[in-house]
Amino acid sequence: MSKSFWDDLITAGSIIGGAWIAAEIIKAFSKKVTIYRCPRCYVVINKNAARCHNCGACLNW
Ligand SMILES: [Zn+2]
Repeated sequence: MSKSFWDDLITAGSIIGGAWIAAEIIKAFSKKVTIYRCPRCYVVINKNAARCHNCGACLNW
């Protein structure tokens, strides 16, 4: 195996089911701000965006 099991699993998941959003909660200046990142390229995306503006991945919310 040249790649790890998890790499294969993530790749397969992206192909089959699209890319699920990973939400991050960042504490900034004592207030909580939730940001969303593309699970493929990790660029910050707008909430409920249909596609990543950077890599074009379909986003499942
Ligand atoms: Zn992306």
